[in-house]
Amino acid sequence: MSDSSRMVSGKKRTEDRADNALRPKRLDEMTGQTRVVENLRILIEAAKKRHEPLDHVLFYGPPGLGKTTFAHVISNEMEVNIRITAGPAIERAGDLAAILTHLREGDILFIDEIHRLGRAVEEVLYPAMEDFALDIVIGKGPSAKNVRLHLPRFTVIGATTRLALLTAPLRTRFGAVYRLDFYDPDAMREIVRRAALLLDISIDDDGIEEIARRARGTPRVALRLLKRVRDFAEVRANGAISLDVAAGALDLLDIDPLGLDDIDRRVLLTIIEKFEGGPVGLETIAASISEEADTIMDVYEPYLLQLGFLERTPRGRMATRLAYEHLGLSDERPPRQATLF
Ligand code: ADP
Repeated sequence: MSDSSRMVSGKKRTEDRADNALRPKRLDEMTGQTRVVENLRILIEAAKKRHEPLDHVLFYGPPGLGKTTFAHVISNEMEVNIRITAGPAIERAGDLAAILTHLREGDILFIDEIHRLGRAVEEVLYPAMEDFALDIVIGKGPSAKNVRLHLPRFTVIGATTRLALLTAPLRTRFGAVYRLDFYDPDAMREIVRRAALLLDISIDDDGIEEIARRARGTPRVALRLLKRVRDFAEVRANGAISLDVAAGALDLLDIDPLGLDDIDRRVLLTIIEKFEGGPVGLETIAASISEEADTIMDVYEPYLLQLGFLERTPRGRMATRLAYEHLGLSDERPPRQATLF
């Protein structure tokens, strides 16, 4: 099954489009990520005081944690326009040049999946970010001339799920780099509560707790689960969401009490049953369960690592004792495994 059809994937799907109405607009409305919020508050206030555009900002972390939301919030706080694009959408250097020449002083250019920019496009972006200049070549052959165009001072906000794939020169052009972590249980409850209020959904505290707990610390997943549980409640329970209704709906969706779905379980079971608990390479795991290695790395692995169910070792991934316990299996690996690393 492709990742885009999974309930617990943090990746964006078409049904999430309506979530724009739920997006917090201001820093004050952002739940959780307090360290990032506080840092941004200072960055924004300082830039405003100096009447300067904001420094370039990079957000990284698993999908669905708020990178795009933060970009919009920053544009609202700075009271500037935001232009949205994504790495794969900018195919040629000329595409980027066209975008850059249409920006105005202070504007924000949000580049999602910035790790997927082509090399030639990156070459154009470096001077644009550093010197607000666009170097273009006019003509061909010996008569070709280099011309430098000046650009208004603008801000790039980059987002990536894979910091490691960013080239070093690109990374160093960002003045502020923030990692978004999975949200803690308090923040997750607050996000479910706020969304329920905005969507006029009747839900009690236990219902909120249950959805928050199974949403893998990811706001996008929480919103998606809330909507599916609402459907279930409308058909089976007069529209009100209680603990039983939430648990019943989520069980039906095959999402377990920790938010793991079938793919998570298959990843763990593959390591445990086919490879004796690991270590085994990610590509091998991906091939065994017919999923893309990128999807496992971006969407599934971060949460399994966070739960302490997976361990990354130099020789591959290993399932931990906690994973065995969660799946109700006994860890019968010989004890030497424990002393290997
Ligand atoms: P990303 O760009 O990291 O994939 P998004 O910014 O698109 O994630 O966020 C996904 C959804 O989660 C958005 O629709 C937004 O409404 C919600 N969301 C994200 N962060 C927060 C937050 N801190 N508080 C409340 N809702 C949030």
